[in-house]
Order: sequence, then C-alpha cells, then structure tokens
Amino acid sequence: MEKGSPHVIVAIDGPAGSGKSSTAREVARRTNSLYIDTGAMYRAVALFCVESGLDPRSDQLGSQLRDVVIRLDPSESGIVVYLNDIDVSEKIRDSRVSALSSEVSKNADVRDKMVLLQRQMAKKCVENGGSVVMEGRDIGTVVFPNAEFKFFLVADPKVRAKRRADQMREKGFRADEDKLYQEIVDRDRRDESRELSPLRKAEFAIEIDTTGLSFEEQVENIIHVINGNG
Ligand code: C5P
Repeated sequence: MEKGSPHVIVAIDGPAGSGKSSTAREVARRTNSLYIDTGAMYRAVALFCVESGLDPRSDQLGSQLRDVVIRLDPSESGIVVYLNDIDVSEKIRDSRVSALSSEVSKNADVRDKMVLLQRQMAKKCVENGGSVVMEGRDIGTVVFPNAEFKFFLVADPKVRAKRRADQMREKGFRADEDKLYQEIVDRDRRDESRELSPLRKAEFAIEIDTTGLSFEEQVENIIHVINGNG
C-alpha cells in the first residue's frame, strides 16, 4: 500500500507448499507492508519442544511456554525469527520441526498465545499507519476474519512437493521428492482435520490455484485485487 493510503490487513492462507510464504513476502515488499509469517511462530514453539525435551501433546505445554518469547523481525530476506532472543530462522525449517509444528498447533494454549501475539504485532503496525500481510492457516478464519483482503492459495500436492524439493536443492541440500510429498500430505491431513482452527478457506476469501502459475503471476493476481482491480 502506498504511504498515506488507508492501512489494511491482507490475510493469505493455504496448505504447506502452496506458494503462500514466498508470495506473501513479495506482496508485502511491493506494497510497503509488514510481512508476518505465522507458521514460523508455530515452528519456533515446535523447536522449543525439541530443545527442551517437551512432549508437544502434553496438556502442560501452555504453562511451560509462559516465559517463552517469540519475536519476528523484518529483514532484507524476509524475517528473522527469534526464540528467547536466539536467531532460529534456519533451525525451524528442519523437517523434524516441520512435522512437529502441526502437532503443537493443535494445542489450545499454544494457539491462544500465538493468535494474541499475531494480533498485537498487526495492531502495532496499523496504529503506526502501516499495512500488514499475514500468512498462515487461520488468518482469514480466526485471527483477522474481517481483514480487508483474504486469499486462499492451493496447489496440487505433487507440484508442492516439487517446489519444496527445488527450494532445498537451490540451497544446496539433497531432496527426496517422494518423501516430501508424503510429508506434505500428512501435514495437510493434520492441519485440515484438527479440532481447533482447522485449515479452511475463509468466507469471502479469494481462492487462487497456483498449480500452473509462475511466481510472478501469483504475486500479480493478489496485487491486482488489492489495487482494486479484482
Ligand atoms: O506455514 P508453515 O508450513 O511454516 O506452518 C507450519 C505449521 O504451523 C503448519 O503445518 C500448521 O500446523 C501450523 N500453523 C497453524 N496456523 C497458522 C500457521 C501455521 O496452525 N496460522
């Protein structure tokens, strides 16, 4: 959004690998908005469980998290994620943490804490005259059901697995596409079937199937709507 234009909240939801993170980041950059990756926050909680030896399914998780501080700082490349003041941006992308993130995200106390933080971050930005692009699974349904713009990105799971594999290879890692496919399908199932805030397209959200779209087309589709041409 241009400086001086009314502040807005853009909610972008969708399953793993649908292109929402890279798209949301670029939409935020082009619209001078704050980018908030809420998945990174659940991942940080999952990493906290791994490092502290906590059971992500435990009823005690909420109280054990009371003093945990998760912070997202904007950076040139997107965001830096801090867990108790330590940069964990790389560590939270580990496949074990990915799988565990959809376990911890079932916990009501964890969700309450994350949603509160997400609303606080957005409020602070909007109060200072800024706009926000927030991406996740429940932004349009729970966190900001009245967001000015809501999008739901989907894509064929095979294509999503290939994208993840390409991203990993670009970073110099080896990638097993079949394994990634299975991980994505399993995570979708957990995210869609959980009791609290399951992954759903929000009411009035615009669905974008990114299967056959280039990155530029995904970004342009959203910018087009935000600019009032949708
Ligand atoms: O978006 P990302 O794949 O990094 O999210 C990791 C996990 O965090 C998801 O699989 C989901 O279980 C959880 N999540 C969530 N609600 C959000 C964002 C992510 O439950 N708003």
